[in-house]
Amino acid sequence: MSNPTPTRVYEQLREHRIRPTAARIGVLQVLHEADGNYRNAEQVYLSLYDAGLRFSMASIYRVLQELSQSGLLLRHWSKSDQAGKSRFLLAPAVLPPTVYTAVCRICARRMEIEDATFAENLHRVAQGAGFSAGLHTLSLSVTCNACSAEQLTRLATHPSA
Ligand SMILES: [Zn+2]
Repeated sequence: MSNPTPTRVYEQLREHRIRPTAARIGVLQVLHEADGNYRNAEQVYLSLYDAGLRFSMASIYRVLQELSQSGLLLRHWSKSDQAGKSRFLLAPAVLPPTVYTAVCRICARRMEIEDATFAENLHRVAQGAGFSAGLHTLSLSVTCNACSAEQLTRLATHPSA
């Protein structure tokens, strides 16, 4: 249980006005480590157990329910699942995307920034400033090299323009 930082999980609970108990921090961290995949209550229980954290199944169920109601987790129930188990996933607004897009404001050329470290750092900074909820729609507005060069040439040719 090293990545992501427990601090981020702690902040997310506080942002959603949920008291950060050991069980809530543990469950949310397991869902973070699931890396965008679903986990059911038993899988959460076992991950915590492996990490040396002992909670009852009833506590795990209760926390998953609380976190879903607060919007931190999405609950998914499938009829094809024989046991009829609910599965849980971090809500998209909580999970930072790993790909951001930069768009040239002049020619609209797009560049994808696929960098997990960048995404992680950006999310942490945004969270501190209270902007993390809208981060999944972020696109950077930039000027590409070709357009920058063209602007400079135009300025050099027509200094008054
Ligand atoms: Zn451009």
